[in-house]
Amino acid sequence: MEVFKFGGASVKDPDGIKNLRAIVEMHRHKPLLLVISAMGKTTNALEKLTRSYLNQNPDTRQLFNNIKAYHFSILESLFEDKNSTAFDDVENAFVEIDWILEEDPPENHDFVYDQLVSIGELVSTKIASAYLSYTGIEAKWLDARSYIHTDNSYGEGQVDWEKTETAIKNLLSGLTGTIGVTQGFIGGTSENYTTTLGREGSDYSAAIFASCLKADSVTIWKDVPGVLNADPKLFPGTVKYEELSYAEALEMTYFGATVIHPKTIRPLKINNIPLYVKPFMSPNETGTVIKADINPATLAPAIIVKSNQVLISLSTKDFSFITENHLSDIFGAFATTHTKVNMIQNSAISFSGCLDYNEERFEKLKQALQNEYNIRFNTGLQLITIRHFKKRVIDDLTQGKTILMEQFSRNTAQLVLKQQM
Ligand code: ASP
Ligand code: MG
Repeated sequence: MEVFKFGGASVKDPDGIKNLRAIVEMHRHKPLLLVISAMGKTTNALEKLTRSYLNQNPDTRQLFNNIKAYHFSILESLFEDKNSTAFDDVENAFVEIDWILEEDPPENHDFVYDQLVSIGELVSTKIASAYLSYTGIEAKWLDARSYIHTDNSYGEGQVDWEKTETAIKNLLSGLTGTIGVTQGFIGGTSENYTTTLGREGSDYSAAIFASCLKADSVTIWKDVPGVLNADPKLFPGTVKYEELSYAEALEMTYFGATVIHPKTIRPLKINNIPLYVKPFMSPNETGTVIKADINPATLAPAIIVKSNQVLISLSTKDFSFITENHLSDIFGAFATTHTKVNMIQNSAISFSGCLDYNEERFEKLKQALQNEYNIRFNTGLQLITIRHFKKRVIDDLTQGKTILMEQFSRNTAQLVLKQQM
C-alpha cells in the first residue's frame, strides 16, 4: 500500500486534476490511497467566509457563491456529461454550508470554523474521485471523519490513536482493486461532528493513514522539486536535498520550514515509513526522500525564515534575580495563553523570548505578566534559523539588518531580525 498526498496547489484547476489522474495511472498497479487537500486557496476563502458569517457581514452569501462558482467551473470543464452525479455530489456537500449560514452563529467559534472549513476537502475529494471513475480508474470515496477519530478540540483536533487505528485497519480489505480517495485535514468526533487538524494538516492526515495501514511509503506531491535548503521565493540559488533523516526533517519543520507539516514526521518515523517529497509537474524526478538511514555527507545549510514574530522582554519590577520560580511563572503564562515560543534568553533580571505573534493571545500574555514584570516588546520581526550554518551565510543574511537577539549551538544558528522597511 502506498499513500499519495496532493496539496491544494496540485489540484487548483482542471489541469491539476488531470495531472493527478496521470500520476495515479502511472502507479495503478499497486494499492493506493489518495489524501487530498482543498482546491487551491479554498481553505483561505472558507476561513474568510467563516469570519464573515460570525460577524454577520452582508457579503457572506457572496463569498459563499464565489467558492461554489470556482468549484462548479472546474466540474464543468472536467465533465462533458452534465448529468454526471459529480454535480449533485458537490451540490450536496455545499448544502451543509447553506444550512449553517441560515442559523444565527453559535457561541463556539472554533466549532463553526471546523464545520464550514472542512467542506473544502469534502468537495475536492468528491471531484477527484468522480473524475477518476469517469475516466476509467475505479475509485472509492472515503469519508476521513469515519477513520481519523479525534477529541473535540475544534480547530486542532487531537487524534485518538486507538480508535483511529482500528478504523483504518478495517479499511484495507475494502480497497483491493480500487483506489481509495479521502480528505486531508479533517477528522470526526465521537458525536460525529467534524474537526480539523490545524492549517496545512493534510500531510499529517497522510501520515496517520500510512502509519495505521503500515504503508510502504508516503509521497507528498508538491509544486517544488523536493525539500529545498531555503524558500526559492526568498533566496536565489537554492539546492535540493536528495535525502534527509527523520530527525533533520523534524528540526527543519519545527523551526518553520513549511514544506511539510511538522506533525507528519513522528508517525512515519515510529513505523519506519519513508516519506517522498516530489514535484507533481515532473513526477518521474527523484525528489527528496526522508527516511531512517541516510548518507551522512555534509548537508547544505538550511535557511528557514519565520515571519510575524514578536520579541518580548520582561524584567522584574523589584530588581530581583530571574529565578526558577520566575521562569516557571513565565512558562506557565506561555502555556495557558497557547503561545508558541521559538527562542529564549535570560540574564540577571531580564528574560527575552521570540514568539509567534497572535494579537489576541499576546494581549492575554501581557495581562498575565504585567503585575510582576516590566514588559517591552517589538512586533513584525523575522526569526531566521540556519541549520548547518557557515559564517558566510550568516553574514550575507544579516547584512544591513538589525539583529535583536542571536543564539548559536553546534548545528543551529538563530537570529531575530528587524525586517527591512
Ligand atoms: N486545506 C488545508 C489548508 O489549506 C489543509 C492542507 O492544505 O493541508 O490548510
Ligand atoms: Mg494547503
